Amino acid sequence: MTSSTPFIPHLIDGEPVGSASGARFDTVDPYTREPWAQVALGGAEEAARAVAAARRAFDHGPWPRMGFAERGAILHRLADLVEAHADELGGADTADMGKPLRDSRGNDVPRSALNFRFFADHARLSTGDALPMDSGHHAYTRFEPAGVVAAIAPWNFPLMLETWKIAPALAWGNTVVLKPAEDTPASASILARLALEAGVPAGVLNVVHGYGPDSAGQALTEDPRVDRITFTGESGTGRAISRAAAANLTPVSLELGGKGANLVFADADLDTAVSWSIRAIFANAGQVCLAGSRLYVQRPVYDEFLERFAAAADALVVGDPKDPGTDVGPLASYEHYLKVRGYVEGVEADGGKLRTGGLGDGWVVRPTVVVDVPGSARVYREEVFGPVVVVRPFDTEAEAVGLANDTRYGLNAMLFTENLSRAHRVAAALKAGTVWANCFFIRDLRAPFGGVGDSGVGREGGTFSREFFTEPKAVVMAIAPVPA
Ligand code: NAD
Repeated sequence: MTSSTPFIPHLIDGEPVGSASGARFDTVDPYTREPWAQVALGGAEEAARAVAAARRAFDHGPWPRMGFAERGAILHRLADLVEAHADELGGADTADMGKPLRDSRGNDVPRSALNFRFFADHARLSTGDALPMDSGHHAYTRFEPAGVVAAIAPWNFPLMLETWKIAPALAWGNTVVLKPAEDTPASASILARLALEAGVPAGVLNVVHGYGPDSAGQALTEDPRVDRITFTGESGTGRAISRAAAANLTPVSLELGGKGANLVFADADLDTAVSWSIRAIFANAGQVCLAGSRLYVQRPVYDEFLERFAAAADALVVGDPKDPGTDVGPLASYEHYLKVRGYVEGVEADGGKLRTGGLGDGWVVRPTVVVDVPGSARVYREEVFGPVVVVRPFDTEAEAVGLANDTRYGLNAMLFTENLSRAHRVAAALKAGTVWANCFFIRDLRAPFGGVGDSGVGREGGTFSREFFTEPKAVVMAIAPVPA
């Protein structure tokens, strides 16, 4: 590290600060495999300071008391600034985790700006219920901000998933302490700086860097001054966070892992099925909770589909994430590379075959297609979180639904068919929070997003985010008051 190495501070109460102890850690570019910046390493002390700042801003500051239009205008300004700093924000995520710049700058940054615009407008235009009662009374609902929100984020869509939490929390008048993943700290600090520039008051959006267990993350989940915990990450971490939150009865929203099933029926349009199935597993090097990592193909088209799918996987450009032509970059960290490599190396011992793919240079796993794998194999049952897909044939619709639902996860599933009745029937039968038919990844931000089983607890999006980030209140009023 040289004196010109960038330093990524916490942002607490509007101030960029280091940790009290001066502790720092490196963030590593997984393509160059070199540290590219140093990051303030926070712990319980920094988490407590950030929560205190957020608490003050909530209890005494203007943010929760502002009108929706005024808050919304600030969030729209923030969206403008996010768009204006697309190179810096996209470049930060690419340097931190190796996501192709085309995706970070091209998709995640615009979607992050949209998150602020959407939730600002959604909150402003939201209506409550007026409930006429028979007894000469009526009731109505109010949605009041919940308070201090702890947002704990993963590394796979850093800025995009952070703003998916922060935007509704802020739009509904809460204050926030964000703990980005330790592998991807950079874009969060830039965002917090832009929020101040947009007019978000000091203390409303705080960022604390650090690790999870026995570090800043855990401290946030145990702090009784926190009113909501919104978490995206692994199912095991979700369990630990639930346990910590239970001590204070803090409501928790958990967006966890997945093992998405992708069903291709013989009557599917194969061009559509191949292109979406490729995207579903190889975008972001498969480091996507929604990845279509179990691909089931009906037997009459199995050979043809597999041929075309494997050829399309081989045609993906693997390389430098900063190169605009790159489709698949390295895995996000050495630790994660070792994990995914372990699954690839275990395929044959578990009875499967690599149809194509395997290990690349550096921390790269090439788009990998696994066939003939038994249902007991780890690569078949567990979330790999890399560019590795298992492909199996099926005969009947009932068998396909049974295979798809045979998992502890239930985040999403996909199906490809030209038969309208089948599409609706199978969509209803699949155990998943989202089902895509003849498409993938298409989102309406009003729709519920979340999973069943080990994929999570709760839903986010539109009114679902409103439910979580507010305290809905019922007010009952007498129309013609009479003494009790
Ligand atoms: P992770 O659970 O390891 O870490 C996520 C965050 O939690 C990090 O900020 C980490 O520091 C923090 N953390 C870890 N232990 C903690 C603890 N005990 N207390 C408080 N905080 C703690 O997950 P990851 O590896 O960053 O992300 C990958 C996982 O996230 C995958 O399983 C993926 O499927 C899942 N994911 C889910 C969704 C979804 O919407 N359902 C979206 C993206 C990723």
